[in-house]
Parts: sequence; structure tokens; C-alpha cells
Amino acid sequence: MATLFTKIINREIPATIVYETDNVLAFKDINPAAPVHILIVPKKEIPTVNDITPEDKEIIGDMYLAIGKIAKDLGIDQEGYRVITNCNEYGGQEVFHLHFHLLGGKKLGPLIS
Ligand code: 5GP
Repeated sequence: MATLFTKIINREIPATIVYETDNVLAFKDINPAAPVHILIVPKKEIPTVNDITPEDKEIIGDMYLAIGKIAKDLGIDQEGYRVITNCNEYGGQEVFHLHFHLLGGKKLGPLIS
């Protein structure tokens, strides 16, 4: 069954999309934890960081290139931001389709809680 994020990639569920390439989609988080909260997802269904394989190297690289581009487009590249990926239960992962959280737009607090 398609993941929630695949449904967003396929435009079956609406989202505010900010960036797209052949390998990557980025859109606003529905429940933002910061003034800027973008999710960067691979179009390939990779459930968790644990499932990344050597053949995914280009996709992961494209995801990081997307982050830099989006941060620049949103004007937060110089002030700075945070990139987070949650993995499985202890990491607090809720959607099992790999994604990076791009958080910014304010000075962020301590990372660990
Ligand atoms: P995780 O906890 O898996 O690292 O993060 C999942 C993120 O997906 C959460 O920040 C949550 O707010 C976001 N999210 C969940 N459902 C939707 C949705 O339907 N649309 C969008 N845009 N974001 C979602």
C-alpha cells in the first residue's frame, strides 16, 4: 500500500509543495514545529534510514541538494536551520517513508528532549 507521502507525491493528498525533482519532493509540514518546517522526501519508498542502500546514494545526495536550494529560496540559508531525520520508535518516527525535516525561521533550542 502506498505510504502517506507517496499519496502526496502522486497528488492524491493535498500539500503545499515547495520543490520537486525527478527523485525528490518537498512540502510544508502539516503541523509545523518552527516558522519554517519543510519535509524533504524521496519519491522512492524507503521506509527508514536503516533501509538506505548503496543504490540510493544519488537520491540521498539529491535530498541534501534540495535542502540547500530550499533554504536559499526561503532566505534562511545564512541565518541557519536544522535538518532532522527520525528513525523508528526511539527516534519518534511516525511516517515510514524516509524524510528530512528542515526546520528554521527562528533560533532553535536544544536538540535533544
Ligand atoms: P516523523 O515523526 O515521521 O519524523 O514526521 C512525520 C511528519 O509528517 C510530522 O512532522 C507530521 O506533522 C507530518 N505529517 C503527517 N501527516 C501529514 C500530512 O498529511 N501532510 C503533511 N504535509 N505533513 C504531514
